[in-house]
Amino acid sequence: MNVQDLARPEILAMAPYESARSTAAADGVLLNANEAPVMLVDEPRWRAMELNRYPPPQPEPLRQRLAQLYGVDEDQLLVTRGSDEGIDLLLRVFCRAGRDAIIECPPCFGMYRVAAQIQGADIIPVPRDDESLRIDFPALAEQIRDSQNARLVFLTSPNNPTGDVISPADLAAVLNACDDQALLVLDEAYIEFCGAESAAGLVQQYPQLVILRTLSKAWASAGLRCGAVIANPQVIDLLRRVMAPYPLSAPSIQAALAATDQAVRPRQEDMLTMLAAGKVDLLSQLEGYDWIRAIWPGEANFVLIRVDDGPGLVSFCAGQGVRLRDFSSQPLLDNCVRLTVGSPEDKAALAKVLDAWR
Ligand SMILES: *Cc1c(COP(=O)(O)O)cnc(C)c1O
Repeated sequence: MNVQDLARPEILAMAPYESARSTAAADGVLLNANEAPVMLVDEPRWRAMELNRYPPPQPEPLRQRLAQLYGVDEDQLLVTRGSDEGIDLLLRVFCRAGRDAIIECPPCFGMYRVAAQIQGADIIPVPRDDESLRIDFPALAEQIRDSQNARLVFLTSPNNPTGDVISPADLAAVLNACDDQALLVLDEAYIEFCGAESAAGLVQQYPQLVILRTLSKAWASAGLRCGAVIANPQVIDLLRRVMAPYPLSAPSIQAALAATDQAVRPRQEDMLTMLAAGKVDLLSQLEGYDWIRAIWPGEANFVLIRVDDGPGLVSFCAGQGVRLRDFSSQPLLDNCVRLTVGSPEDKAALAKVLDAWR
């Protein structure tokens, strides 16, 4: 399979922008980027970041760190401004406006649809089962084979907001259906919260597989805006063609290295343990409320529930200072509300408002 055959011809044909840092080393006397020669802030913390200089487009130490973290080669990984940027880059490289399409299995993460709409790509939904909210895999494979113009298939494991995980057998079936006519984009934003293994290792074997990872959730770093696309090096090269010349700010690069340092790993373990225990508690608490019509526990750091009046519950809780996410307006999610597992203090505040609602 040659993934270049799937890319927009305009993207293949154009000469990418050549920045100062992408065409020359950042050493010696730097007079090639119209930068200021001095820094104006004078605190050691900021000085170390050389804020007067453009940052490296793909900082080597961070790329190395993430490749090691995810068990892939460096040339299979692109560091991005969160997964949101990865989704956007994929749409812009692989979907021609008004011609190509993405396939998604709603209810799912809303950014796939929005990125497709911005790019002018069609959206082909393969709806989930209306009770279990699970993916209809035979229907999905059929849709992939039938649609001539689908270039990207977006799947999420565990899924947001339903929390279900895709089995290796189901994944293999979708990869085979994609064959050499579409890329399967597997978003693993919540994979660290569940027992399942990442599919990143399969990228070697399947050039049609793209994995999205992020530091936003299990690395407790949503404020950083740092994620990664893991794919065949040819896909990575294509994405770099449309990416901004300096996507990552110097402070983000430093902070991402600090946030994934060996020294924080034990604290990450503690946090994951705390959240797993918090989720068990939350579920047993929710089971005690007779006004909850359905619970989808899922395998991530949130729970989806159905009640009689979803918007009412969400606005009641907001009035008490507790923010929940209302999904009522989404297909199949009538009166559904998503609750994130928080700290023990958050849980106490939540219990108080839910008791009051009853
Ligand atoms: C939260 C989330 C992300 C993370 O996006 P970032 O841009 O990396 O913060 C990605 N995918 C899904 C499904 C999510 O829920």
